[in-house]
Amino acid sequence: MESNKNGNNLGDMPVEEFRKKGHQLVDWIADYLKNIEQYPVLPNIKPGYIKNKLPKHPPASGVDMNEIFDDVDKIIMPGITHWNHPDFMAYFNSTSSGPGILAELLSAAFNINGMLWKSCPSATELEQVMLDWFRQMLNLPGNFWGIIYDTASVSSMHAIAAAREYVSLDIRKKGMLGREDVPHLRLYSSEQAHSSIDKAALTLGIGLEGIRKIPIDNEFRMMPKELEKAITEDKKNGWQPFCVVATIGTTSTTGMDPLDEIANICNRENIWLHVDAAHAGVAAIVPEMRYILNGIEKADSLVVNPHKWMFTPIDLSIFFTKRPNILKQAFSLAAEYLRTSEDSEVENYMDYGIQLGRRFRSLKLWFIIRYFGTEGIIKRIQEHLRLGKIFADWIDKSSDFERMAPTPFSTICFRAIPKNIPEYELNNFNENLMNAINESGKLFLTHTKLNGKFVIRLVISGIRTEEKHVIHAWDLIQLKFNELLMNVD
Ligand code: PLP
Repeated sequence: MESNKNGNNLGDMPVEEFRKKGHQLVDWIADYLKNIEQYPVLPNIKPGYIKNKLPKHPPASGVDMNEIFDDVDKIIMPGITHWNHPDFMAYFNSTSSGPGILAELLSAAFNINGMLWKSCPSATELEQVMLDWFRQMLNLPGNFWGIIYDTASVSSMHAIAAAREYVSLDIRKKGMLGREDVPHLRLYSSEQAHSSIDKAALTLGIGLEGIRKIPIDNEFRMMPKELEKAITEDKKNGWQPFCVVATIGTTSTTGMDPLDEIANICNRENIWLHVDAAHAGVAAIVPEMRYILNGIEKADSLVVNPHKWMFTPIDLSIFFTKRPNILKQAFSLAAEYLRTSEDSEVENYMDYGIQLGRRFRSLKLWFIIRYFGTEGIIKRIQEHLRLGKIFADWIDKSSDFERMAPTPFSTICFRAIPKNIPEYELNNFNENLMNAINESGKLFLTHTKLNGKFVIRLVISGIRTEEKHVIHAWDLIQLKFNELLMNVD
């Protein structure tokens, strides 16, 4: 390894060197995006492979950027899962877009900390305006106030903390431990809610026993009657119901809890209703999909992640609430050194959450919404929805496969049902099928279990995914199905 003079000089990389290396890196990224289909979607390596290629100790002397760039190719690239790949149809995809990547670069260059209005007025005010734009795009009522957090898990944690504050048990001041005057708090979600809700409850001292999972119907939706029953029963037994989490677009199937009916129950009982629409909420930007948030005006809070289905580099999660004052009551603590003379006139976002330091995330939204325009975003999501319907149709028409859940968006849940394989072996067969597909490096799918059955999920939400990729996915699935069957025979 050739050492250079970086260690001898003080200060940053010289600006002219930065300019040169910056151009080089942007060229590298442009080539990467241009050639992305040449990479296997999923790396074919064993655990430890990347670690073993890295030195055990930090280097004493600096090296030229070219050497670092070379190592990105040699060491890092072999272990990259290409989330930007058009054949990445696993989990809920998060693809980045050109304007999003450029915004990240600029954000790193500014390197502001948006904790207070004063610490960077542009960050606070752009965030306020972007959240109002996004609110309008989702057709939410004017009294929905927003803040950007990093992930939906963190957004929901803040929602549940606000719900806990809302029950007026003086928990902010007195805590919960050892208090006989604090009843056990109960949170309700469906069996299909994301694990981040349970983690938030763990973090906030609600405990796993404080979460009551409400049964679902045969379309994987929370049953409002069961929710009502559970609340009545809990109240009788001394629990204090304090929060319901409804999901629009569950992780397994993109199922939709009946928001309007659940909201009516919550309003009647005065229980905080948080709506987790981390992935699917973005679809409400499409006029014909607005119905998915029917009843949202009766909810207390909502999370939607542009970093899932709006082409925004991870991380950017948007949290809306009708009760920002409750959130503020739960979290604001102004140390003397953070007081400013503008405090009474401005919003200091540090008051609305656990973190003090805040990245300039709203830049990403600004670049993306302005570059594509709302029409461009709508068109792309509409195309994903169209492709989802096409794929669901192929499954429905095939006698070798069956669809395992409704497809309200562009996530298709299916499994193979070869005639000569008994039900008790189907889970194994489908797991092997998914593994064979993923090992090909040509498509990446993930799975879930529904009613004990192994179910493969195919998610179409990447900005580079076109009809030809969905056709290719279907061809590959059938090819691997036939190969596997031949081996079984
Ligand atoms: N909620 C739902 C419905 C999800 O599907 C996910 C992740 O896929 C999350 C929450 C967690 O998202 P994040 O990774 O932003 O915390």
